Amino acid sequence: MLQSPNDAKSPKKPLIYYYIVTLLVLMLLNIFLFPTLLQRQVVEIGYGDFSDMVEAGGVKRVAYSADDRQIIFEATGEDGKDGIYKTGIFPDNGLYDRLKAANVDFAAEIPTKASPLATLLLSYALPIVLIIGFGQWLNKKMMKSMSGNAMTFGKANAKIYAEAETGKSFADVAGQDEAKDALSEIVDFLHNPNKYASIGARLPKGALLVGPPGTGKTLLAKAVAGEADVPFFSISGSEFVEMFVGMGAAKVRDLFKQASEKAPCIVFIDEIDTIGKKRDGGGLGGNDEREQTLNQLLTEMDGFDGTKGVVILAATNRPESLDPALLRPGRFDRRIPVELPDLSGREAILKVHAGAVHMSGRIDFAAIARATSGASGADLANIINEAALRAVRLGRDTVTQADLEESVETVIAGAQRKSAVLSPKEKEIVAYHEIGHALVAAKQTNSAPVTKITIVPRTSGALGYTMQVDEGEHYLMSREEIENKLATLTGGRSAEELIFGSVTTGASNDIEQATKLARAMITRYGMSRGFDMVALETVNNPYLSGDTSLACSAETAARIDQEVVASVKAAHEKAIGILRDNMEALHRLAHFLLEKETITGEQFMEMLGKS
Ligand code: ADP
Ligand code: MG
Ligand code: ZN
Repeated sequence: MLQSPNDAKSPKKPLIYYYIVTLLVLMLLNIFLFPTLLQRQVVEIGYGDFSDMVEAGGVKRVAYSADDRQIIFEATGEDGKDGIYKTGIFPDNGLYDRLKAANVDFAAEIPTKASPLATLLLSYALPIVLIIGFGQWLNKKMMKSMSGNAMTFGKANAKIYAEAETGKSFADVAGQDEAKDALSEIVDFLHNPNKYASIGARLPKGALLVGPPGTGKTLLAKAVAGEADVPFFSISGSEFVEMFVGMGAAKVRDLFKQASEKAPCIVFIDEIDTIGKKRDGGGLGGNDEREQTLNQLLTEMDGFDGTKGVVILAATNRPESLDPALLRPGRFDRRIPVELPDLSGREAILKVHAGAVHMSGRIDFAAIARATSGASGADLANIINEAALRAVRLGRDTVTQADLEESVETVIAGAQRKSAVLSPKEKEIVAYHEIGHALVAAKQTNSAPVTKITIVPRTSGALGYTMQVDEGEHYLMSREEIENKLATLTGGRSAEELIFGSVTTGASNDIEQATKLARAMITRYGMSRGFDMVALETVNNPYLSGDTSLACSAETAARIDQEVVASVKAAHEKAIGILRDNMEALHRLAHFLLEKETITGEQFMEMLGKS
C-alpha cells in the first residue's frame, strides 16, 4: 500500500503530547513545590546569634532536636518574620535561667515537618486528582471532536422529537384515501376519548403503517397528529439501538413516560423493523440489546391505559420481518397499507407539490402522472422540484410542461450527459437499437404506445431509450401483453443483429428485464406450459427489492431455466420477424432519429404511417 507522507501523522500525537506535559508538571511540582510545603524551612544559625536573640526576647519556644544534638527554636528574626531556627548545643550553664527570664516556652518537640495528613494529601491525593481531572478533560475534548453525541445516553429526550404541532394535515397527503379513512377513526378518538370510553369501546393501541419507501408513511403519521391537534412524539427505530446494553430499553421507558404525561398524544416509531425484527436465537451479541429494547416496548404497550388517549403509530417497509409478538391484538393489531399511488393518486400528489412552486398556466398533470407509473410520492415530489430547478437554470420564473417532462426523464433515466461523446458509428447503433424497440412495440397489438425516443446519453449510463406510456392504469397484464413486452425488449438487440450482423453490450438492461419477466411468468404467474398454477418462487420483501427465493427442487429449477430460455428465444425470433418485415421503416426511422436525436411519439407514428 502506498501512503502519502501526510498520512503518517497519526492523530494520536497530540494525546501523547498532553501526557508528557502532565508528567512534566507533576515532576516540577514534586521537585520545587512539595518540599517547601511538606518541610517547614529551618534556618541554621550560630550559637552567639541564638544568645543574642534570647536577649532580645525574640525566641518563643525551644526544644531539642530528635537526636538531641541541636536546639530547635521558634523565633522572630531580625526581619520581623516568624521562623524556625536551629543551632548546635554549646556548654552554657546560664542558658536555662536566661531562657526562663526571657519567658520562653520549653516544648517537647517543634515539628519541622508538615502534619502526616497534609503529607498524605499533598503527595498522594493531589497528583491522583490532577491526573483524573486531566483524563476527564481529555475525554470531554475527544467526545466533542467525535461526531454525534455519543455520550448523551440515559435520557431519551435528546433524541425524541416532540412537536406540539406538526403543521401537517390530511390535505397534505394526496391519494392514500384508504389509509386516511383508516386513520380518521384514530383522529376522532384523540379528539374525543370519552365518547369511546363511555360505550366501553377500546380503540387499538397501535397501528402499523406498511408500504414501500417514499409513499408518505411518515407524512401520514404527522398528518394524524395535525388533524387531531395533539402533540407528536417521534423516534426512529435505529435511535433505540445504543452502544450500551440497556440504554434502548431506558429510552423506551422514557418515551412512554413523557407521552403519558402529555396525553392525548401520538407516539410514532419510524422504521420499527430495526428493533422489531423477529427474535430468533443465534446471531452475535448485538441482538441482546435489541431484544431488551423490544421486550421493553412490548411491556410498555401492554402496561399503559388505552383509554387515556395515547396512540402509537409505527411505520415499516419490511412487515414480513416483524416479530409476531408486536402484531398480536392489543399491540400493533391494525395494519394500514400505504401503497404506491395509482394514476389519479399520482396526479393528486403532483398537484399538491405543484402548489408550492410557480407553474405556468397550462400544465397537463395527467400526462405526467401517466408517464410516471410506479413512482412513489417522494419521487413525484422530487420530479416537481427538479422541474423547478430546471426552470431556474434556464432563467425562467415559471415551470412549464417541458420542464416537467425533462424532469421525469431525469428522475427515471438520470440527467442528460452533455459530455458523453459517442462516435458516429456508436450513435448509429444506438439509433437502430432504439428504433428496433419502438418498431416492434408499434407493430404489435396490445402494447403501450411509444411516446418518446431519444439517443441523448444519460448520466445513469443509458445511451438512449424508448419511452412507452400506457393510456390508463393497468392492474392486470394478460399473457399476450407480457409476451409482446418480451418481444419489445428483445427488439433493440434484434435490430443490431439484422443491420450490423453483430451485437454489442448495450442490451444488458433489456436482457435483465426480459429474463426477470420471463421468469416471473413461469414461477409466479402460472403462465408456463409445463407447471400449471404452481408457485415456484416466493417474494421475500414485496415493498423493497422484490427479491425472490426458489421454492422448488433442483430438477424443477433446471426445468424453469429451460422454459425461461425458451420463452425469451421465442420473443427474440418474433421481434426479428417483425423487423425483417419492416426493414424499410427501420432504416428510415433510424436515420430520422440520428438526425433529430429525440423524436416524439406522434412524429414516430407519422413517419411510420408514411410507408
Ligand atoms: P415514507 O415514510 O413512506 O418513506 P415519507 O412520508 O417520508 O415516506 O415521504 C417522503 C416525502 O414524499 C414527503 O415528505 C412528501 O413530500 C412526499 N410524499 C410522499 N407521499 C406523498 C403523498 N401521498 N402526498 C403528498 N406528498 C407525498
Ligand atoms: Mg419514513
Ligand atoms: Zn434496449
